[in-house]
Amino acid sequence: MFTIDSDRLWALLEEINAPGSLPSGGVERLAWTGSEVAARHWLMQRCRQEGLEVEQDEAGNVWAFSGARPAIMMGSHLDTVPNAGRFDGALGIAAAVEVLLSARASALPGADRLGLVCFTDEEGVRFGLGMTGSRALAGDLATEELRSAVTTDGTPLGEVLTAHDIDPDRVPEAAHRRRDMSAYLELHIEQGRRLERAGAPVGLVTGIVALSHWQIEVTGEANHAGTTLPEDRKDALVPLAVAALEAQRVMRDSDGLVATVGEAAVLHGATNIVPGRSRFSLDIRSLDEDLIARAEQRILEAARRAAEDNGCKLHQQNTKRLPRAPMTDHVINALRTAAELHGEGAPELASMAGHDGMNLAAAGIPCGMVFVRSRDGVSHSPKEHSSKEDCELGASIMGTAALLLARNLVRAL
Ligand SMILES: [Zn+2]
Repeated sequence: MFTIDSDRLWALLEEINAPGSLPSGGVERLAWTGSEVAARHWLMQRCRQEGLEVEQDEAGNVWAFSGARPAIMMGSHLDTVPNAGRFDGALGIAAAVEVLLSARASALPGADRLGLVCFTDEEGVRFGLGMTGSRALAGDLATEELRSAVTTDGTPLGEVLTAHDIDPDRVPEAAHRRRDMSAYLELHIEQGRRLERAGAPVGLVTGIVALSHWQIEVTGEANHAGTTLPEDRKDALVPLAVAALEAQRVMRDSDGLVATVGEAAVLHGATNIVPGRSRFSLDIRSLDEDLIARAEQRILEAARRAAEDNGCKLHQQNTKRLPRAPMTDHVINALRTAAELHGEGAPELASMAGHDGMNLAAAGIPCGMVFVRSRDGVSHSPKEHSSKEDCELGASIMGTAALLLARNLVRAL
């Protein structure tokens, strides 16, 4: 049975996290900043040292191959959110490197058909785009989008890319690399508490949830908080409050759906003014798109009614809609078999957060993901933690599945 070297996996994770390490115990490697570029250079260097074929594509994604192509690729990302943890993304890269090293050392059949890919700018916090590397690979990133993106400090993304020898006009050409990839596997921390609650060290992802984002603006009438009679008030905050409460009720009533009013503001608000204008966001996610449609209707209808009752006007706009991205059956089957070989009945669950795999799955690339239990469900925080044993098991399962898929691929070629 294929197993990995857990001490080396842990050491690789430490090496990755040297660039951008924070005194708090966390890390910070925003896309295309010095620490993130340093981590990617480390990755290329480390893979070259091991005799792997290393390349960087037009979008800045890093690829490493054991030999034959197309290959079963494993990977994740090295960029992080601000004040991040040491596992999100980094674990997937460390695991991919470790699987490649262990598989090559054991000369197992299929080992020469494995590869690694590290996607750029997964988190999207610096340029407001996100997953640019995997979107380019999926053929879903237009040059105009790259050209119009700017960093939070006002620097155009194009300038940042050019400074790192990436030609923004050529980024979409990364899509040609799809021919080198016959499946994609990713090990990632769960970022939730479902596995911990179930007492399971690892889980298999069935799909990545669909998502719908709304921006809502309510216009009432600003007036004196003391002198305006209750019946004359056009309070623009009430529909916002109603929407937040309805979102909570909808979540209680529906299984496998989350709804959040995450941004909320009273414009030109003050203690002594009846709120004249408010603005809020709504984020709804579920693997079931019908459930999302019903939730949208309930929450927005409740807000609209509250607006009417309070003499306000409500304007709503759907700003983003992403379809669900089911993982691929034959890849899930390989992961299931791998988990059984390792004596684990891994529960199957939906990913409530977006990952690079969703873009690849949408482009028809067979995909699968393994989640590792997160301590207290915490992520995007220096407190992020998964145990060495859980990470070892997750990486071993991913590696075993990758080898099974590689052998099938060789037979099919
Ligand atoms: Zn991640």
